[in-house]
Amino acid sequence: MLLRTLSNLDDLAYYGKTVLMRVDFNVTIGKDNEIGEDYRIRMTIPSIEYLTKRGAKLILMSHLGRPKKIAEMEYKQIDRIQQNTTSGLDTSAIKQFSLLPVAKRLSELIQMYNVSFIDDCIGPKVQKEIDKMDRGDILLLENLRFHSGEELNDYNFSKELASLADIYVNDAFSVSHRKHASIYGAARLFDKKLAGLNLKKELEYLSMVKDDPVKPFILVVGGSKIKDKIGALENLLPKIDKLLVGGAMAYTFLNANGVRTGDSPIDYDHFQWIKNALSKYPDKIVLPIDHIVTSQSFLKLKQEESNEKKEEGKEGNENSTFDSLPSPVSSPSSVSSPSSSVSSPSSSVSLKKGAIEDGLLGVDIGIETVQQYSSMISQNSNGLVVWIGPMGVFEIGLFRNGTNNIAKSMALAFWRGSKTIIGGGDTLDALKKAQVSELEVTHVSTGGGATLKFLAGDEMPGIEVLNKIH
Ligand code: ATP
Repeated sequence: MLLRTLSNLDDLAYYGKTVLMRVDFNVTIGKDNEIGEDYRIRMTIPSIEYLTKRGAKLILMSHLGRPKKIAEMEYKQIDRIQQNTTSGLDTSAIKQFSLLPVAKRLSELIQMYNVSFIDDCIGPKVQKEIDKMDRGDILLLENLRFHSGEELNDYNFSKELASLADIYVNDAFSVSHRKHASIYGAARLFDKKLAGLNLKKELEYLSMVKDDPVKPFILVVGGSKIKDKIGALENLLPKIDKLLVGGAMAYTFLNANGVRTGDSPIDYDHFQWIKNALSKYPDKIVLPIDHIVTSQSFLKLKQEESNEKKEEGKEGNENSTFDSLPSPVSSPSSVSSPSSSVSSPSSSVSLKKGAIEDGLLGVDIGIETVQQYSSMISQNSNGLVVWIGPMGVFEIGLFRNGTNNIAKSMALAFWRGSKTIIGGGDTLDALKKAQVSELEVTHVSTGGGATLKFLAGDEMPGIEVLNKIH
C-alpha cells in the first residue's frame, strides 16, 4: 500500500497550521510518577521535530492504560467530570491514568520546544489552549480514554477531535489495529491525513518480513498466547527457514508431537492447527529438547513474590539457579550436557531433558535448547531473525535464563550483520532485563498485537484510513 507520509506535503504546508498527531504514550508510570521505559516516547521525536521545525502547532494525543477496565465506577465519574459535575468525586483514576508525567518527560527530551499539557482532550477549554499556541509549540492532550467515545469510535467524539486541527498524522503503529476514534473515526474526517516517521519505519521493516524476507529467515516465537500468534505463523511459515519455539506455547507443540508435558498448560483450541503445521513443516519447526521445570505451587509462590516486589517498586534481580553454568552464548562448547534431570540448588526447580512427568510444568527452555537456539540465531549472520515473545516466565529471575540468552544472541547476530527484528508486548522489557540495548537490534517494533496482526495480513484500520477520501 502506498502511504502518504510527512514528506508528501510541502514544508510550507505545515507553517502556522495545527497538526493533530496520534502517538502511543502508553508507558508504565510508577507510584512516584516516574516513567518506566520511554522507548515509545523517544520513537515519536523524529516526527515531532519534523513538524515543529516547519512551524506547525503540534497537538499530541494518546491513551494511557485501561482506565475503564480498572476503575469502571470511577470511569463513570470521569464522564460526569467531563460534563462539569465534579463535586464530591474521588478522582484518583484521573491521577493514575493522567498523561501529565509524560508531558514532563517529553519536555525533558525535547528541550528546544515548548511542551504544555491540558487536562482534557476535547471542548472549549482545549480550543482556548490551542488558540494560544505559537508556531513550533507542542500541546499534549489528556488521556483519550477518559472519554468513552474513544474506544467506541463515537462519531461526535471523533468530530470534536477532528475540529481541533488542520492536518492529521498517525505515528502510533502499535494501536493502528484498533478502530478507535483517535485512530480511525477522527482520521476519516481530515482531507490531509498522513503517516508519521515512526509509523513509516515500522511499516518498512514489517512489510519486508511479511512480503519479502531476507534469507535465511529464522522466526523465534515464545510467550503464552498461541491465539494471538497463529495468524502470523500461518502467514509466515511458508516463508521462513526455521521456526524456533519456546515459552508456554512450546508445550502445546511438544504435546501435539507426542511428548509428555506434565502439568504444562496445553492450548487445545489450537492443537489441531499445530498438529497439521508439525506434519506439514517437520524440518522447519524446532522444539525445545530440555526444560526448566517446577511445580505449579512453586511457580505461584514466585509469581506472588514478584508481584509484591513490583508493587513495592523493587523488582527482584534474582537470577536463574542455572546461571552458575557457563553462558551458552559465550562458550557453547564448554557446557556439559545435562543428564535427564539435574536438580538446582533450589530443589523446587530442576532441569529436565525430554518428557516432563505429571506434577511438574515447564517454565523456561533448558540449557541444551538455549545452546541450540542461540547458536542458530547468532550464526545467521547474513539473514533475518525475528523474535516475538519470551522463552519462559521471564518476569521471575529463576526462569529468565532462556529469554536472557535469546536476547544476547539477537545482539550477537546483529553485530555479525544479520537483520534482527523484535516485537511483542514483553520484548523491550526482556531486552532491558538482559542488558541488551535497543541499538543492538535492527528494529524494535513498538507494537505487540499490532505487529502480529500486521504480520498475519489482517486489516489495520489506522493505516487503511490514511488512504481513504471521505
Ligand atoms: P499480556 O497480554 O499479558 O501482555 P502477551 O500478549 O505479552 O501477554 P504472550 O507474549 O503470549 O502474552 O506471553 C507473555 C507471557 O508468557 C509472559 O508473561 C510469560 O511469563 C509467559 N510465559 C512464557 N513462558 C511461559 C511458560 N513456560 N509457562 C507459563 N507462562 C509463560
